[in-house]
Formats: sequence, structure tokens, C-alpha cells
Amino acid sequence: MFDKILIANRGEIALRILRACKEMGIATVAVHSLVDRNLKHVRLADESVCIGPNPSPQSYLNVPAIISAMEITDAVAVHPGYGFLAENADFAEQVQKSGFTFIGPAADVIRLMGDKVSAIAAMKKAGVPTVPGSDGSLPDNSEGCLEIARKIGYPVIIKAASGGGGRGMRVVEHEADLINAIAVTKSEAQAAFGDGTVYMEKFLQNPRHVEIQVMSDGQGNAVHLGDRDCSLQRRHQKVLEEAPAPGIPDAVRRRVQEACVQACIDIGYRGAGTFEFLYEDQHFYFIEMNTRIQVEHPVTEMVTGIDLIKEQIRVCAGEKLSLQQADIAIRGHSFECRINAEDPRTFFPSPGTVNNFHMPGGFGVRIDSHLYSGYSVPPNYDSMIAKVITHGEDRDTALARMRVALSELVVDGIKTNIPLQEELVRDEAFAKGGVNIHYLEKKLGL
Ligand code: ADP
Repeated sequence: MFDKILIANRGEIALRILRACKEMGIATVAVHSLVDRNLKHVRLADESVCIGPNPSPQSYLNVPAIISAMEITDAVAVHPGYGFLAENADFAEQVQKSGFTFIGPAADVIRLMGDKVSAIAAMKKAGVPTVPGSDGSLPDNSEGCLEIARKIGYPVIIKAASGGGGRGMRVVEHEADLINAIAVTKSEAQAAFGDGTVYMEKFLQNPRHVEIQVMSDGQGNAVHLGDRDCSLQRRHQKVLEEAPAPGIPDAVRRRVQEACVQACIDIGYRGAGTFEFLYEDQHFYFIEMNTRIQVEHPVTEMVTGIDLIKEQIRVCAGEKLSLQQADIAIRGHSFECRINAEDPRTFFPSPGTVNNFHMPGGFGVRIDSHLYSGYSVPPNYDSMIAKVITHGEDRDTALARMRVALSELVVDGIKTNIPLQEELVRDEAFAKGGVNIHYLEKKLGL
């Protein structure tokens, strides 16, 4: 096992990783920007290193500073968390080349899955269902593109191979608009991602977002840990998640889960990963793989009883996967509400000092948060400040528990989206289960 891990992240996920390391008897190094010197995990880590000024390009994305921090502290591995450098293949490669371990898959696997065209090809090979679309990138001639779209049927969506964060996509309703849309998406993709490769998919009208959690050791062993529904989104940002995804027939679910496990083995995947799908009319359609731990991983931990961060650290330290598929059972139901420092109506960020922070508690309630009374939320980073997670023996119990938990939560001094979350957990359609990815934006009148 690793002697010492450097945590290349901040906020709640840094604290989450720190706790796992402490339980495992692994020493910890926190790295932080100037403004983050009072973060909870920085205070609790064995050592801490300031890696630069507040803007993330100069601190949390500053690869040389992070590698130097590993050198001076004798850390042997780095946990990237999510966001920042978590899916940066060049960083993973740099870590490997410097003689350290990146807690995640090998750099070339990150690269393979980071390019959507190559990711989809790898998934097809493994038997994972994909969206009907062009076989790879679009050809240069207009006639070829028109032909592909005719075969798929309108509406179609043009997507950049290197796109991310919901950028680099364009929906086309009519044939007359196709060629122009391809040209515009290409040049935008070239400008934004330095890669003008685009491909085409059928545009699904009312899908849900359902994803499958996997864990794999890169030595031929892989398991899935069930699924999550993250359909409540605003501008492609998830707001409220649950596990398992409600109302999916067992046979449909089993087929796709098994295909994901096979895909992990095929690509030599190591660590925790998520296969993201659109789900419509009892069909799964792969859209992308996230090669890292995700924000919403706790709902899976609650229903499986498995600590995903600890497992991730173990397999990345070279241990064989200790989990067997037959031992993984889904017990009950779990929800997660993301609490953000933002105006609940305008969504405008609301940094500032938290005068009072009261956490809910009780049976089946878990809070992942770095907040404490007196903590000042800086304006420089993502606005998520806490995750409220509940578990119950069934969906209704877990949801009722979330209503109680949210009613106890107090974050004074800044604006938060708690009122929005309180509204969502009382929403009738959401309570029934299975709303689609447009539901939240429609409800908000967007
Ligand atoms: P990104 O990497 O930018 O997040 P994704 O491929 O994951 O890109 O797509 C982001 C979102 O765009 C999806 O969650 C979905 O809302 C929408 N989307 C992508 N592909 C399709 C499609 N074929 N049909 C309908 N919606 C899509």
C-alpha cells in the first residue's frame, strides 16, 4: 500500500479522500491555493503545501507545482478527485514519468475515453449499446454527411470528439440546416478544443440520464456497482441524484451492466469509472465514460455499503480487486442533493462568509462537506459547498428522510440553493420517479 498520498483537489472531495486515507493508515499531503489555506482538509492533513495563487490555472491546474510538492513531501501517489486534473491524460503521464502513481487509469486509457469517437468505437466493440450515429468522424464531403443523417433520421446532433462540459454540440432538425451546422460546430470545436473532429448521433428527445458505476483493477477483474439516475440537471449540471435508477426492468439493466464490465476488461481499465448513458423507451445509449470518481459516488456507497475511494486506492496501488460481483447487493435507495453557494432563482454565485453552519443528522443521513461556521466561500472555484445524502430501505423512505434533512440544514450568511432542493424533494413528478433530463429546466421556466 502507498505510504503517502498527495490530494490534488479542494473542498468536500479533498476531505472525503483524506478521510479514506486516514482510515487506511496512509499519510496525507494537502496542496492548496493561497485563499484555501483554511480549508478543513488542509488543517487535518499530515502536511500541506501552498502551490500557488487563487486562480486554478496557477494552483490546482499547475502541474509542475503539484509534481514538485510530491517530490518535496515524498508522496508516492496522487489522488486527483474530480474536476481539475482528474481527466487530464498529460498530467497522468507526467505523474507516471516522474515515478509516482496516478490514482486512476493509465494515461493512454484516459486519452482513449477522452476522445468521444474512439470511446464510442471501443464501447461498440465491447457490446455496450451506443446512440445510432455516424461510424466514427464525419466525412469531408457534404453528400456523405447528408446520407448519414438520412439514415439516422432527423433530428440529429453534431458533436465534437473532444467536447466536454456540454459544449461543442448542435442539434439539427432539418436537412436544409445540416451542412452549415457541421461547418459551424467544426470551427467552434477547433477554436475551443484544438480539434475540429465531429461526429453525428440521433438526437434523443426525452431521455433520462442513467449511469453505471464500475471498479476495475486493470488485471482482468472488474465489477459494476449498480446504477444512478442523474436526470435532474440544469445546463448539463447535475442537481439531485439517486441510486438505483427507478423503474428500469431488471433484464435491461443487467445486460448493460454486464457490457460495461466487459468494456473495462477490454480496455484494461484501472480504478473507479462511470459509464454515462441516455435512457429512453427501455433502451440504454452510451454517451461517454468518466475516468474518475464522481461527485455523486456517495449514493452508490450508501446502497452497496462499499467505500469507493478506498477500493479505488487499493486497485491503483496494484492490489487485485477484492470485490466479487456476486457479493455486491443493492440495498434500499439513496438520494444526494448538491448544495451550492448560489442564488436559488438566478443561480448567480454567492461567495462569502458562512456565519452559521448546522448539519442535519440522524439515521441514514450523511453529509459530505468542508464547511464550518466562520468559513469563507471563495469566489474562485465551483460553488458546491455540501452534499446531503440520505439512505432508506426504499425510495419513499429515503426521500422522506431527505425532506427532514434539508429542513434541518442551516447555512447562514450566503445564499444557497437549499430552497430549490426543498422544492424538488416535494415535487410530485419527481416523487413518482423517472423524470427526464429536461424536467428541471422546464419546471424553472428556462
Ligand atoms: P459532455 O462531455 O459535454 O458532457 P455528453 O456527450 O456527455 O457531453 O452530452 C452532454 C449532454 O448533452 C447529455 O447529458 C444530453 O443532455 C445531451 N446529449 C448528448 N448527446 C445527445 C443525444 N444523442 N441526444 C440527446 N441529447 C444528447
